Amino acid sequence: MGLLDRAGARLTSHPEEAEILIVNTCSFIDTAKQESVDTILEMARHKTSGSAKKLIVAGCLVERYRDEIRKSIPEVDAVIGTGELESILEAAGLTPSPAAPSLFNILSSSHAEIHAGKESLSGTHKQSFRPEGDHREQQGRFRRDTWQGATHLLPTYLYDETTPRFLTTPKSSAYIKIAEGCDHPCSFCVIPNLRGKFRSRRFESVVAEAEQLVARGVSEITLIGQDTTCYGEDFGIKDGLAELLDALARIPNLRWLRFLYAYPNRITGKLLETIARHDNICKYLDLPLQHAAPAVLKRMKRGGSAEIFLKTLEKVRAAVPGIVLRTTFITGFPGESLRDFELLEEFVKEARFDWLGVFNYSDEEGSGAISLDQKVPRRTIEARKRRLMKLQQSISKRAKQQWVGRELVLLAEGESEETPLLWEARTQFHAPEIDGKVYINDFGALQALEPGRFYKAAITEAHDYDIIARVVSGPL
Ligand code: SF4
Repeated sequence: MGLLDRAGARLTSHPEEAEILIVNTCSFIDTAKQESVDTILEMARHKTSGSAKKLIVAGCLVERYRDEIRKSIPEVDAVIGTGELESILEAAGLTPSPAAPSLFNILSSSHAEIHAGKESLSGTHKQSFRPEGDHREQQGRFRRDTWQGATHLLPTYLYDETTPRFLTTPKSSAYIKIAEGCDHPCSFCVIPNLRGKFRSRRFESVVAEAEQLVARGVSEITLIGQDTTCYGEDFGIKDGLAELLDALARIPNLRWLRFLYAYPNRITGKLLETIARHDNICKYLDLPLQHAAPAVLKRMKRGGSAEIFLKTLEKVRAAVPGIVLRTTFITGFPGESLRDFELLEEFVKEARFDWLGVFNYSDEEGSGAISLDQKVPRRTIEARKRRLMKLQQSISKRAKQQWVGRELVLLAEGESEETPLLWEARTQFHAPEIDGKVYINDFGALQALEPGRFYKAAITEAHDYDIIARVVSGPL
């Protein structure tokens, strides 16, 4: 969107107004693929009946079904994989803005800087990827040869601070992708095949981008990547994420900083100490665990157990008092017995996560798990998911009730979509768009609130996932 915007395109989220329709797709699980295909078909109808002249499909579905999309949906004019972002202009029939460096210059300079960055951080860096990535590649982790229509080339693209950005998030918040790809062997997951080997953005590039965003009025930054806790390992730096957080937390006017998707065995003492030390690093950790029964985790090729995870959580809570924890699990992985599921339930009771998401297992072509036997029936998968969510509901409710009476800082987001009588907000314990909501039903002494500003508020009520607050003072 940034490239298109800089080239002079006017962006709209209303397909009926658009001349060029672009669908950015996901293909990590069945439901995501279905949603992507449905959206492409819907846009194809717009193209045939409306004013749109071109339909472009981008993203992970293209990495997986490149030829098939073009063959089965002839309305599609161009496809753009995750490593070909820069070709969006050509596909849209636009040329780079003359005021900006040409597109190809942007790309080549970005690659040159990545290499220069590695040298400056690690001294004699010669290798582009982590040894684990190269090793897993030799073992066939990233292979796509059974994927008809996919190119065999893995994406290697990484954006940098010179890549233009067009923010679609509220003006106070932004995401920064600090790394791309993943070297982990999780047998249910095809993301590494879609996104390629793990590679970090340069340290200086991330800091520069964060500074630019804060200068544009962003006060909350969320760092993302398939596995943020590996950040910097391809540069040979240890505890790269902790170092990066430490540098970012020093940016004046950056009020909230958080990272998502930590890998469980990569929560180091230094990382926790860094979270604890900086007031503006949110006391929030998203730690997808996927399961807790050792037999299932082993078949998932992730390792670990309820016992090990409980020790990790204890370490986290001791190092960062009051930290809020989020996780995700998969129900119905092949071979998950009733006993395995009960172990997961026992673990959930003991671990007391503040936020928890559950995915149904689905067979994904190209994943290791597809060839495993003892598939769990779909109905059982769904029933187990519901059972786990129900269990979490009571845990979450109890945890939220402990918030009642506390005074917390809120980031006001705007009027609630449900009713203009309520405003929606988040605390540092709520990641954008993921966790429960905070509803403000009382502005206190204030006449009005401003979206994107911070307020002090008292928590007055708690529901299963959402809480109600009254503004005490602000804007802060
Ligand atoms: S760490 Fe996450 S992205 Fe990487 S293979 Fe495992 S589930 Fe997939």
